[in-house]
Amino acid sequence: MNSNVRALHKLRMWISERSGVGGWQVNLETQQVTWTEETRKIHGVGPDFVPSVEEAINFYPEEARGTVTSAIEEALQTGSPWEFELPFNRACGTQIWVRAKGEAIFEDGVPRQLMGTFQDITHIVRRREELEQAQKAAQTAKERLWRAIEALPEAFVLYDTDDKVALFNTRYRALYAHSARAIKTGATFESILRYGLDNRQYPEAFGREEEWLEERLERHRNPVGQITQELPGDKHLQIHEVILPSGDTVGFRVDVTQLTRQQRELAEKAVALEEAAVTDPLTELGNRRALDMHVRSLRHTSVATDTFGLLHLDLDRFKPINDVFGHAAGDFILRQVAETLRRSVKHNDFIARVGGDEFVVVLGAPCNEEDASRVAQRIIKTCQQPLEWEGKPLLYGASVGISIGPASQLPAMINDADIALYEAKNSGRNRHFVFNADLRRRVEDKKRLSDDLFRAIEQKEIVGFYQPQFRASDHAFCGMEALARWEHPEDGTLSPGVFLPIADEVGLLSQIDKLVFEHAVETGMALAEQGTMCPKMAVNIDLKQLVQSKSEIWLPRKEDLPFSLAIEILETLDVDRDLELVSWAIDDLRERGLLIEVDDFGSGHASLTSLLKIKPDRVKLDLGLVHASRIDPQGAGKMVKSICNMCLDLGIKVTAEGIETELDADAMTDLGCDTLQGYMFSKPLSRSDLLVWSRTANISEAAPTPLLKRA
Ligand code: C2E
Ligand code: MG
Ligand code: MG
Repeated sequence: MNSNVRALHKLRMWISERSGVGGWQVNLETQQVTWTEETRKIHGVGPDFVPSVEEAINFYPEEARGTVTSAIEEALQTGSPWEFELPFNRACGTQIWVRAKGEAIFEDGVPRQLMGTFQDITHIVRRREELEQAQKAAQTAKERLWRAIEALPEAFVLYDTDDKVALFNTRYRALYAHSARAIKTGATFESILRYGLDNRQYPEAFGREEEWLEERLERHRNPVGQITQELPGDKHLQIHEVILPSGDTVGFRVDVTQLTRQQRELAEKAVALEEAAVTDPLTELGNRRALDMHVRSLRHTSVATDTFGLLHLDLDRFKPINDVFGHAAGDFILRQVAETLRRSVKHNDFIARVGGDEFVVVLGAPCNEEDASRVAQRIIKTCQQPLEWEGKPLLYGASVGISIGPASQLPAMINDADIALYEAKNSGRNRHFVFNADLRRRVEDKKRLSDDLFRAIEQKEIVGFYQPQFRASDHAFCGMEALARWEHPEDGTLSPGVFLPIADEVGLLSQIDKLVFEHAVETGMALAEQGTMCPKMAVNIDLKQLVQSKSEIWLPRKEDLPFSLAIEILETLDVDRDLELVSWAIDDLRERGLLIEVDDFGSGHASLTSLLKIKPDRVKLDLGLVHASRIDPQGAGKMVKSICNMCLDLGIKVTAEGIETELDADAMTDLGCDTLQGYMFSKPLSRSDLLVWSRTANISEAAPTPLLKRA
């Protein structure tokens, strides 16, 4: 072998080894099989192994041999080459895959030999199998993903980095029915939006399409949080978009139509409730809460120089209308007044109904006293016009209290207007009154006095003074009346006229009555201990107190005391109206063995009907009537006479108060009074003066002379 042939042989070996392709040949004449080195390596046999054709074929597994033999036969007959990939058993038993190519070589039309290549392709087949498996797995995963996306309760869409649709589910397309034709893989987001805009897919874009498109694209490119979107047919979506690390954009759409509608209904209900909470249903004006809110908002929004007017209006004669004509008539009046108020004020003024027949108007700034008074007069004038109800005139009226001030003072102004209203009512109704410095001073004085009174009650500065009473027939001492006095540490002894009205106003009257009562009982006991016979001790209690404050709690039973106890009642209640309560209170007094005396009869306080209803033991003629009899014996005198006669008929005894002269005493005795009380006998005395007086005066005998000292 020359060197050239050797080099060529070496090259062939190298190629064969590196490519893994071996060669083989069969001499058809001799049936000799020749294998190259590489072919032997693939078969796993040594250089000495020389197989027969059959042995060579037997390296293939049985099921593959047929393929090989048929290919050889075909090649011998037709000359067509073969190539197949088949499993193969190496000599050592391991199974591999081989690619075998071959063909018959003809000479003069006769097949002389078979020749081919042989290659171990196990690694290729394995890789191919792996690839197939991977592809199958990928397909399965894809299908699974599809099914998952389809099964999502939400609409899903995926845009690639070019903002083109890559994936979407049926729900997504169904949701955007007007844009459905544009939604397809590969379509850009913008093209879908534009198609939607042309087909009225987005109601919120109507009339501002380009602007809306810009905003939507911006949110899509830089998604932050979620977007709500309205679709035709009152449909509502919530859009969640996220840009993935890959640059793709994932979008979910949640149908929140139901939720949005529920929220809207709830919000509407909340507004309605809120309105109802601040609206008076009868007049549709604001209520007290609305007034508070209005005041609060004015305090926040107005400047210090703004002055507001506050009108507090209360209807006159409203209650009787309600009582006589019924609630429907009352409601009718309230609605009419509301209408009057609406017509009397400016558009931005505020009106509220703050109580049964009470209204408050806040007149917006700037407003001064004259402006507010003008509005009040207009309202009062309108309210003086009778209204017709079922063919009958309803006569009512209005009183108005006014206060003027800045928004910061509005809460206090409500109170001030209320005080001014009280003043307006007291000065004759159908009037208005503007709260002023003088009224404030009076209110403050009253406040000081009532504070002082609280302290006085605690310190027991309220005591009884005692005015003796005498039998008319012989002027014998027959009892006394306890009258309240305030032993003021600075102002000296104060009369009830100074402090009782305020005590009544601030609810202290009952405590005062109790103090005087206790003082009187102690005084009666002190007289008894001193050996002075006091047949009767009378205290003053007004009927209202008796009924309301359950005085029975502190009124003792008569049998505990060595003298009679009488209660002088001043009528401050409508006996007819509150008959049940009054009867109950009077019966309670009687049960305790207390005598009942009606005070100030003839003054206008006490009525004849009350005499019949209460059936007192005694009436006390008002001193005004007694004094009037002096100068008008024919008028007042006759009246006293008839009262006395009537009382006589009813078995009621009569005391005359205010007896200042002997003429008074004689006249009242002649007219039929059996008991006399007045300065002629004695002024009201302090307890110590009374004890001295009772010791010095010979009161056990009916002797008027020693008692004629004028205190
Ligand atoms: P009243 O019960 O009718 O008492 C008679 C008033 O006439 C007393 O006035 C008495 O001082 C006065 N008076 C007596 N004699 C004469 C007289 O000859 N001439 C004149 N001009 N006046 C005479 P006072 O003490 O100022 O009491 C006024 C009213 O205050 C009482 O009228 C009574 O309604 C009420 N009051 C007094 N003390 C109490 C009390 O403890 N409780 C209650 N609820 N009311 C009382
Ligand atoms: Mg009295
Ligand atoms: Mg009296």
